[in-house]
Amino acid sequence: MLKIKNYIGGELVQPASGGYLDNYDPATGLIYSLIPDSDAADVERGVEAAKAAFPAWSRTPAEQRFEILMRLVALIERDLSSLAEAESIDNGKPLSLAKVMDIPRAASNFRFYATAAMHTANESHETVGQAINYTLRQPLGVVGCISPWNLPLYLFTWKIAPAIASGNCVVAKPSEITPMTAYLLSKLCIEAGLPPGVLNIVHGLGPKVGAAIVAHPEIKAISFTGGTKTGEDIARIAAPMFKKLSLELGGKNPNIIFADCNYDEMLATTLRSSFSNQGQICLCGSRIFVERPIYEKFKADFVARASKLKIGDPLEESTKIGAVVSKPHMEKILSYIGLAKEEGGTILSGGNQVNLEGRCSDGYFIEPTVIEGLSHSCRTNQEEIFGPVVSIMPFDTEEEVLGYANSVKYGLSATVWTENLSRAHRIAAALDSGIIWINCWLLRDLRTPFGGMKDSGIGREGGFEALKFFTEEKNVCVKI
Ligand code: NAD
Repeated sequence: MLKIKNYIGGELVQPASGGYLDNYDPATGLIYSLIPDSDAADVERGVEAAKAAFPAWSRTPAEQRFEILMRLVALIERDLSSLAEAESIDNGKPLSLAKVMDIPRAASNFRFYATAAMHTANESHETVGQAINYTLRQPLGVVGCISPWNLPLYLFTWKIAPAIASGNCVVAKPSEITPMTAYLLSKLCIEAGLPPGVLNIVHGLGPKVGAAIVAHPEIKAISFTGGTKTGEDIARIAAPMFKKLSLELGGKNPNIIFADCNYDEMLATTLRSSFSNQGQICLCGSRIFVERPIYEKFKADFVARASKLKIGDPLEESTKIGAVVSKPHMEKILSYIGLAKEEGGTILSGGNQVNLEGRCSDGYFIEPTVIEGLSHSCRTNQEEIFGPVVSIMPFDTEEEVLGYANSVKYGLSATVWTENLSRAHRIAAALDSGIIWINCWLLRDLRTPFGGMKDSGIGREGGFEALKFFTEEKNVCVKI
């Protein structure tokens, strides 16, 4: 059975403990590879390697960093098919989705930050007649990047790319549930000629490896994406150490649909924003508020379309709904469907585990599920489920729906459907969300600030926000 290795100091190595964990294929329920059960000793090796690499890497001209990172882009694009297949097997997502979303985006992340590093300029401020100030923006040193399982290579590279491009050396941990593409990336880093120690990937459990990264005194910043509870644990350790922290956490995103919307476009996009990646995208809209005049029509059309989405083997081209990521996660989602019924909800469509025939008979599949009849304030509508489950609710006024939308503790993203321009701007300004999509969803421009408010996190990723995060500003004042 394939044994994944850590990538430390430019080499693929065994964990210090010699122990391994099982890695499951969620579409079959079978163990198909083994992950290093690393611990603080491996993190220490990663930090030592990163420290040793930092002086040279931080002084490497941006042009050279650009060339190395662009070689990595070319290798990711060369291996697109095999990386997409690996992602699909590891995560359960449809191969067709990994091919057009996850892997191309990993390449884009490196391309975006490789080129950004070539075009970054620092500010200067003239104090007329007295002085010129200029800002030096210098890399932090060794930084930690910790990522989740839902978009494995996509989110892993979203952190690593700006960190490395701006001259830092990284100790990174992918999710133990989906480690495979990070392992394949480490091989590509070797092939691309990334200097040893610039990126170190330590696999293993959050409370062991992740916690050791967070607590390490020589790691200057933590960029984390994952659950809100884990974010809290990380902040508790890192804040008193005055580490820079970027926390991209959970969500419970509203999708607000007004009667004057472009109906067909809204319906097609709402299907995607509800069930893409089995609803396991932090930006999915799980609370759908529909203006009353079109509520019944929307309900009928949406349920008809949701119930036709093909659930199947993620490796088959026609599959739209693959497996959810793990057995415990499947059980969590099913328990929320049970809770929705207890809270008085009616299941309009789905609601059950699916037992496929053949290869995937023991996989973790759940029907796309549409629920109605719940109050906006019940637990089903307040807590993050992170699966193919949405709740639909009617509303009458703007004020009312804004109250519903903002009633949760989260504030990651929101979608608004209306052809009324003034209303779109009014609602966007009033929503407690870091990312607002008007008449679209997941239309990403990598230059824009990305992140959430309230319990969805602190800080922003993307564009110059990430380059600022991974650098320390220093003002130099020169008297004239
Ligand atoms: P998680 O918090 O369980 O794990 C995320 C990562 O943190 C994993 O690598 C895990 O091993 C590690 N970890 C766990 N405990 C740790 C600890 N004590 N110290 C350090 N690291 C630790 O999250 P998950 O289940 O992998 O991912 C799903 C969550 O991620 C959802 O809540 C989802 O909304 C969120 N998410 C947010 C965004 C965003 O951009 N805001 C994007 C994707 C996913």
